[in-house]
Amino acid sequence: MKTIAVLTSGGDSPGMNAALRAVVRTAYSLDFEVYAISHGYKGLIEGNMKKVTSNDVSNVIQRGGTVLKSARCEEFRTEEGRAKAAKVLQNNNIDALVAIGGDGTFQGAALLSKEHNINVVGIPATIDNDLVGTDETIGYDTALNTAMEAIDKIRDTADAHDRLFLVEVMGRDAGFIALETGIAGGAELILLPEFLTDIDDVKKSLNEVLSAQRRSSLVIVAEGDETGGAIKLSEQLQPEFSKYEMRVCILGHIQRGGNPTARDRVLASRLGSAAVKVLAEGHSDVMVGIVNSKMKITPLKMTFGKKKDINFDLLELSKILR
Ligand code: ATP
Repeated sequence: MKTIAVLTSGGDSPGMNAALRAVVRTAYSLDFEVYAISHGYKGLIEGNMKKVTSNDVSNVIQRGGTVLKSARCEEFRTEEGRAKAAKVLQNNNIDALVAIGGDGTFQGAALLSKEHNINVVGIPATIDNDLVGTDETIGYDTALNTAMEAIDKIRDTADAHDRLFLVEVMGRDAGFIALETGIAGGAELILLPEFLTDIDDVKKSLNEVLSAQRRSSLVIVAEGDETGGAIKLSEQLQPEFSKYEMRVCILGHIQRGGNPTARDRVLASRLGSAAVKVLAEGHSDVMVGIVNSKMKITPLKMTFGKKKDINFDLLELSKILR
Protein backbone atom coordinates (compact mmCIF):
# COMPACT_ATOMS: atom_id res chain seq x y z
CA MET A 1 0.00 0.00 0.00
CA LYS A 2 1.36 3.41 -0.98
CA THR A 3 -1.41 6.00 -1.07
CA ILE A 4 -4.23 6.66 1.37
CA ALA A 5 -7.06 9.20 1.47
CA VAL A 6 -8.63 10.74 4.54
CA LEU A 7 -11.93 12.54 5.13
CA THR A 8 -14.11 13.81 7.97
CA SER A 9 -17.83 13.05 7.79
CA GLY A 10 -21.09 13.53 9.71
CA GLY A 11 -21.23 15.96 12.63
CA ASP A 12 -17.93 17.72 13.32
CA SER A 13 -16.25 17.23 16.66
CA PRO A 14 -13.29 18.91 18.36
CA GLY A 15 -10.17 16.82 17.80
CA MET A 16 -10.89 15.83 14.20
CA ASN A 17 -7.98 18.05 13.12
CA ALA A 18 -5.65 16.38 15.59
CA ALA A 19 -6.68 13.00 14.13
CA LEU A 20 -6.08 14.26 10.57
CA ARG A 21 -2.61 15.50 11.57
CA ALA A 22 -1.75 12.13 13.09
CA VAL A 23 -2.98 10.27 9.99
CA VAL A 24 -0.89 12.43 7.65
CA ARG A 25 2.28 12.41 9.73
CA THR A 26 2.15 8.69 10.49
CA ALA A 27 1.54 7.97 6.80
CA TYR A 28 4.62 9.92 5.77
CA SER A 29 6.68 8.20 8.47
CA LEU A 30 5.79 4.94 6.66
CA ASP A 31 6.52 6.46 3.21
CA PHE A 32 2.84 6.60 2.19
CA GLU A 33 1.31 9.51 0.34
CA VAL A 34 -1.91 11.12 1.53
CA TYR A 35 -4.85 12.75 -0.23
CA ALA A 36 -7.07 14.95 1.92
CA ILE A 37 -10.71 14.96 0.81
CA SER A 38 -12.91 18.01 1.52
CA HIS A 39 -16.57 17.83 2.60
CA GLY A 40 -16.76 14.13 3.47
CA TYR A 41 -18.34 11.64 1.07
CA LYS A 42 -19.75 14.49 -1.03
CA GLY A 43 -16.23 15.67 -1.74
CA LEU A 44 -15.10 12.11 -2.43
CA ILE A 45 -17.82 11.61 -5.07
CA GLU A 46 -16.89 14.96 -6.65
CA GLY A 47 -13.15 14.23 -6.52
CA ASN A 48 -12.63 17.23 -4.24
CA MET A 49 -9.21 16.24 -2.91
CA LYS A 50 -5.58 17.22 -2.91
CA LYS A 51 -2.29 15.64 -1.96
CA VAL A 52 -1.07 16.91 1.42
CA THR A 53 2.30 16.86 3.15
CA SER A 54 3.22 16.88 6.82
CA ASN A 55 3.61 20.67 6.65
CA ASP A 56 0.02 21.08 5.51
CA VAL A 57 -1.19 19.85 8.89
CA SER A 58 0.95 22.23 10.93
CA ASN A 59 -0.88 24.40 13.40
CA VAL A 60 -4.16 22.45 13.31
CA ILE A 61 -3.88 20.23 16.41
CA GLN A 62 -5.40 22.93 18.63
CA ARG A 63 -8.25 23.92 16.31
CA GLY A 64 -11.89 22.88 16.77
CA GLY A 65 -14.17 21.95 13.86
CA THR A 66 -12.54 20.27 10.88
CA VAL A 67 -10.20 21.98 8.40
CA LEU A 68 -11.29 19.33 5.87
CA LYS A 69 -14.94 20.42 6.29
CA SER A 70 -17.63 17.84 6.89
CA ALA A 71 -20.92 17.12 5.14
CA ARG A 72 -23.90 14.81 5.08
CA CYS A 73 -24.23 13.20 1.66
CA GLU A 74 -27.44 11.50 0.52
CA GLU A 75 -25.88 10.31 -2.76
CA PHE A 76 -23.37 8.16 -0.88
CA ARG A 77 -26.28 6.22 0.61
CA THR A 78 -27.00 4.88 -2.89
CA GLU A 79 -25.05 2.17 -4.75
CA GLU A 80 -24.52 4.55 -7.67
CA GLY A 81 -23.07 7.19 -5.36
CA ARG A 82 -20.66 4.74 -3.80
CA ALA A 83 -19.66 3.44 -7.26
CA LYS A 84 -18.72 7.02 -8.22
CA ALA A 85 -16.71 7.37 -5.01
CA ALA A 86 -14.89 4.08 -5.67
CA LYS A 87 -14.04 5.20 -9.22
CA VAL A 88 -12.49 8.42 -7.89
CA LEU A 89 -10.31 6.44 -5.48
CA GLN A 90 -9.29 3.94 -8.19
CA ASN A 91 -8.55 6.66 -10.77
CA ASN A 92 -6.20 8.34 -8.31
CA ASN A 93 -4.50 5.03 -7.40
CA ILE A 94 -5.62 5.38 -3.80
CA ASP A 95 -5.26 2.11 -1.91
CA ALA A 96 -7.20 2.88 1.25
CA LEU A 97 -9.60 5.35 2.85
CA VAL A 98 -9.47 6.61 6.43
CA ALA A 99 -12.93 7.86 7.50
CA ILE A 100 -13.14 10.07 10.59
CA GLY A 101 -16.74 10.25 11.86
CA GLY A 102 -19.58 8.44 13.58
CA ASP A 103 -21.60 5.28 13.01
CA GLY A 104 -23.29 6.56 9.84
CA THR A 105 -19.88 7.30 8.36
CA PHE A 106 -18.74 3.77 9.22
CA GLN A 107 -21.86 2.22 7.72
CA GLY A 108 -21.07 4.00 4.46
CA ALA A 109 -17.39 3.00 4.63
CA ALA A 110 -18.30 -0.65 5.23
CA LEU A 111 -20.54 -0.67 2.14
CA LEU A 112 -17.81 0.95 0.04
CA SER A 113 -15.41 -1.77 1.16
CA LYS A 114 -17.89 -4.59 0.54
CA GLU A 115 -19.10 -3.41 -2.87
CA HIS A 116 -15.76 -2.25 -4.30
CA ASN A 117 -13.12 -4.09 -2.31
CA ILE A 118 -11.59 -0.89 -1.01
CA ASN A 119 -9.54 -0.90 2.19
CA VAL A 120 -11.17 1.29 4.82
CA VAL A 121 -10.53 2.11 8.44
CA GLY A 122 -12.70 4.23 10.74
CA ILE A 123 -11.66 6.68 13.44
CA PRO A 124 -14.46 7.34 15.97
CA ALA A 125 -15.15 11.06 16.26
CA THR A 126 -18.47 12.31 17.61
CA ILE A 127 -19.30 14.40 20.65
CA ASP A 128 -22.06 11.93 21.61
CA ASN A 129 -19.65 9.13 22.67
CA ASP A 130 -22.24 6.61 21.45
CA LEU A 131 -19.92 4.22 19.58
CA VAL A 132 -19.10 0.74 20.79
CA GLY A 133 -15.46 -0.38 20.42
CA THR A 134 -13.93 2.59 22.21
CA ASP A 135 -14.32 3.95 25.72
CA GLU A 136 -14.40 7.49 24.40
CA THR A 137 -14.87 9.08 21.01
CA ILE A 138 -12.90 12.08 19.79
CA GLY A 139 -14.68 15.30 20.81
CA TYR A 140 -16.62 13.91 23.74
CA ASP A 141 -14.28 15.21 26.44
CA THR A 142 -14.25 18.71 24.93
CA ALA A 143 -18.06 18.76 24.67
CA LEU A 144 -18.31 17.64 28.30
CA ASN A 145 -16.02 20.40 29.50
CA THR A 146 -17.79 23.03 27.40
CA ALA A 147 -21.17 21.98 28.79
CA MET A 148 -19.82 21.85 32.34
CA GLU A 149 -18.38 25.37 32.13
CA ALA A 150 -21.73 26.65 30.85
CA ILE A 151 -23.56 24.85 33.66
CA ASP A 152 -21.21 26.40 36.25
CA LYS A 153 -22.13 29.84 34.94
CA ILE A 154 -25.85 29.03 34.96
CA ARG A 155 -25.50 27.83 38.54
CA ASP A 156 -24.11 31.22 39.57
CA THR A 157 -27.12 33.10 38.27
CA ALA A 158 -29.57 30.42 39.45
CA ASP A 159 -28.12 30.72 42.93
CA ALA A 160 -28.42 34.49 42.97
CA HIS A 161 -32.18 34.35 42.32
CA ASP A 162 -33.31 31.02 43.86
CA ARG A 163 -34.23 29.78 40.41
CA LEU A 164 -34.99 26.41 38.98
CA PHE A 165 -33.05 25.90 35.74
CA LEU A 166 -33.76 23.23 33.15
CA VAL A 167 -30.62 22.89 31.04
CA GLU A 168 -30.78 20.93 27.79
CA VAL A 169 -27.57 19.33 26.53
CA MET A 170 -26.89 17.46 23.28
CA GLY A 171 -27.69 13.77 22.95
CA ARG A 172 -30.58 12.72 20.73
CA ASP A 173 -30.06 9.01 21.36
CA ALA A 174 -27.38 8.89 24.02
CA GLY A 175 -27.15 10.43 27.46
CA PHE A 176 -23.38 10.35 28.00
CA ILE A 177 -22.99 14.15 27.90
CA ALA A 178 -26.03 14.68 30.15
CA LEU A 179 -24.91 12.11 32.72
CA GLU A 180 -21.32 13.23 33.11
CA THR A 181 -21.99 16.99 32.92
CA GLY A 182 -24.83 16.46 35.39
CA ILE A 183 -22.45 14.87 37.88
CA ALA A 184 -19.65 17.36 37.21
CA GLY A 185 -22.06 20.30 37.49
CA GLY A 186 -23.76 18.98 40.64
CA ALA A 187 -27.19 18.69 39.00
CA GLU A 188 -30.17 17.85 41.18
CA LEU A 189 -31.78 15.71 38.48
CA ILE A 190 -30.52 14.17 35.22
CA LEU A 191 -32.87 12.94 32.48
CA LEU A 192 -31.49 10.60 29.82
CA PRO A 193 -32.87 9.10 26.60
CA GLU A 194 -31.82 5.63 27.76
CA PHE A 195 -34.59 5.55 30.38
CA LEU A 196 -38.31 6.06 30.33
CA THR A 197 -39.00 9.34 32.10
CA ASP A 198 -42.09 9.33 34.27
CA ILE A 199 -43.18 12.93 34.74
CA ASP A 200 -44.69 12.12 38.14
CA ASP A 201 -41.32 10.77 39.29
CA VAL A 202 -39.65 13.94 38.04
CA LYS A 203 -42.13 16.07 40.00
CA LYS A 204 -41.62 13.96 43.12
CA SER A 205 -37.84 14.23 42.93
CA LEU A 206 -38.01 17.97 42.30
CA ASN A 207 -40.35 18.47 45.23
CA GLU A 208 -37.90 16.61 47.47
CA VAL A 209 -35.01 18.72 46.26
CA LEU A 210 -36.90 22.02 46.50
CA SER A 211 -38.33 21.26 49.93
CA ALA A 212 -34.77 20.68 51.16
CA GLN A 213 -34.44 24.46 50.70
CA ARG A 214 -31.65 24.39 48.18
CA ARG A 215 -30.68 27.84 47.02
CA SER A 216 -30.93 26.79 43.39
CA SER A 217 -31.80 23.71 41.41
CA LEU A 218 -30.49 22.45 38.11
CA VAL A 219 -32.09 19.76 36.02
CA ILE A 220 -29.99 18.44 33.12
CA VAL A 221 -32.10 17.13 30.25
CA ALA A 222 -30.63 15.30 27.26
CA GLU A 223 -32.27 16.58 24.07
CA GLY A 224 -33.54 13.06 23.27
CA ASP A 225 -35.13 12.48 26.66
CA GLU A 226 -38.65 11.11 26.56
CA THR A 227 -40.12 14.37 27.89
CA GLY A 228 -39.18 15.98 24.55
CA GLY A 229 -36.44 18.25 25.88
CA ALA A 230 -36.21 21.15 28.33
CA ILE A 231 -38.92 23.37 26.80
CA LYS A 232 -41.53 20.59 26.78
CA LEU A 233 -40.48 19.56 30.27
CA SER A 234 -40.94 23.12 31.57
CA GLU A 235 -44.45 23.20 30.08
CA GLN A 236 -45.29 19.99 31.95
CA LEU A 237 -43.80 21.24 35.23
CA GLN A 238 -45.10 24.81 35.12
CA PRO A 239 -48.56 24.25 36.69
CA GLU A 240 -47.22 22.48 39.77
CA PHE A 241 -44.06 24.56 40.17
CA SER A 242 -45.44 27.98 39.23
CA LYS A 243 -44.23 29.54 42.49
CA TYR A 244 -40.63 28.93 41.45
CA GLU A 245 -38.87 31.02 38.84
CA MET A 246 -38.29 28.40 36.19
CA ARG A 247 -35.82 29.06 33.36
CA VAL A 248 -34.91 26.97 30.34
CA CYS A 249 -31.45 27.07 28.80
CA ILE A 250 -30.58 25.08 25.67
CA LEU A 251 -26.82 24.83 25.28
CA GLY A 252 -27.00 23.79 21.60
CA HIS A 253 -24.09 24.06 19.23
CA ILE A 254 -21.61 25.63 21.62
CA GLN A 255 -21.08 22.02 22.72
CA ARG A 256 -19.64 21.15 19.29
CA GLY A 257 -17.17 23.99 19.05
CA GLY A 258 -14.03 25.13 20.81
CA ASN A 259 -10.44 24.00 20.98
CA PRO A 260 -10.11 20.32 21.83
CA THR A 261 -9.05 19.47 25.37
CA ALA A 262 -5.65 17.88 25.97
CA ARG A 263 -7.39 14.52 26.44
CA ASP A 264 -9.13 14.77 23.07
CA ARG A 265 -5.91 15.83 21.33
CA VAL A 266 -4.04 12.87 22.76
CA LEU A 267 -6.88 10.45 21.96
CA ALA A 268 -7.11 11.78 18.39
CA SER A 269 -3.34 11.57 17.94
CA ARG A 270 -3.28 7.96 19.13
CA LEU A 271 -6.25 6.88 17.03
CA GLY A 272 -5.10 8.76 13.90
CA SER A 273 -1.73 7.11 14.07
CA ALA A 274 -3.19 3.68 14.86
CA ALA A 275 -5.53 3.89 11.85
CA VAL A 276 -2.59 4.15 9.45
CA LYS A 277 -0.60 1.47 11.24
CA VAL A 278 -3.45 -1.06 11.12
CA LEU A 279 -3.86 -0.40 7.40
CA ALA A 280 -0.13 -0.94 6.92
CA GLU A 281 -0.45 -4.24 8.81
CA GLY A 282 -3.10 -5.35 6.32
CA HIS A 283 -6.29 -4.81 8.32
CA SER A 284 -9.35 -3.32 6.68
CA ASP A 285 -13.02 -2.78 7.41
CA VAL A 286 -12.26 -2.00 11.05
CA MET A 287 -12.54 0.89 13.48
CA VAL A 288 -9.68 1.76 15.82
CA GLY A 289 -10.54 2.49 19.44
CA ILE A 290 -9.11 2.53 22.93
CA VAL A 291 -10.65 0.26 25.54
CA ASN A 292 -9.22 0.13 29.07
CA SER A 293 -6.24 2.17 27.86
CA LYS A 294 -5.38 -0.40 25.18
CA MET A 295 -5.66 -0.03 21.43
CA LYS A 296 -8.43 -2.18 20.03
CA ILE A 297 -9.74 -2.83 16.53
CA THR A 298 -13.41 -3.62 15.98
CA PRO A 299 -14.98 -4.77 12.70
CA LEU A 300 -16.90 -1.84 11.24
CA LYS A 301 -20.08 -3.90 11.04
CA MET A 302 -20.03 -4.25 14.85
CA THR A 303 -20.03 -0.47 15.31
CA PHE A 304 -23.38 0.48 13.81
CA GLY A 305 -26.89 -0.44 14.86
CA LYS A 306 -25.51 -1.01 18.37
CA LYS A 307 -25.94 1.08 21.46
CA LYS A 308 -23.15 1.63 23.95
CA ASP A 309 -24.42 1.19 27.49
CA ILE A 310 -24.54 4.09 29.84
CA ASN A 311 -22.58 3.63 33.07
CA PHE A 312 -25.26 2.67 35.62
CA ASP A 313 -22.88 3.22 38.53
CA LEU A 314 -22.59 6.86 37.52
CA LEU A 315 -26.35 7.19 37.37
CA GLU A 316 -26.69 5.76 40.88
CA LEU A 317 -23.92 8.07 42.06
CA SER A 318 -25.77 11.08 40.68
CA LYS A 319 -28.82 10.12 42.75
CA ILE A 320 -26.81 9.79 45.95
CA LEU A 321 -25.02 13.09 45.45
CA ARG A 322 -27.93 15.27 44.47
P1 ATP B 1 -22.61 11.82 13.95
O1 ATP B 1 -22.67 10.71 14.96
O2 ATP B 1 -21.77 12.95 14.40
O3 ATP B 1 -23.96 12.25 13.42
P2 ATP B 1 -22.31 10.14 11.65
O4 ATP B 1 -21.12 9.65 10.90
O5 ATP B 1 -23.17 9.11 12.31
O6 ATP B 1 -21.80 11.24 12.67
P3 ATP B 1 -24.33 10.57 9.62
O7 ATP B 1 -24.93 11.82 9.11
O8 ATP B 1 -25.21 9.51 10.15
O9 ATP B 1 -23.21 11.02 10.67
O10 ATP B 1 -23.48 9.89 8.43
C1 ATP B 1 -22.52 10.64 7.69
C2 ATP B 1 -22.62 10.28 6.25
O11 ATP B 1 -22.32 8.87 6.11
C3 ATP B 1 -24.00 10.44 5.62
O12 ATP B 1 -24.24 11.77 5.18
C4 ATP B 1 -23.93 9.47 4.45
O13 ATP B 1 -23.22 10.05 3.37
C5 ATP B 1 -23.09 8.34 5.04
N1 ATP B 1 -24.00 7.28 5.54
C6 ATP B 1 -24.68 7.28 6.71
N2 ATP B 1 -25.44 6.16 6.82
C7 ATP B 1 -25.23 5.45 5.69
C8 ATP B 1 -25.74 4.21 5.19
N3 ATP B 1 -26.62 3.47 5.88
N4 ATP B 1 -25.31 3.80 3.97
C9 ATP B 1 -24.42 4.53 3.28
N5 ATP B 1 -23.91 5.70 3.69
C10 ATP B 1 -24.30 6.17 4.88
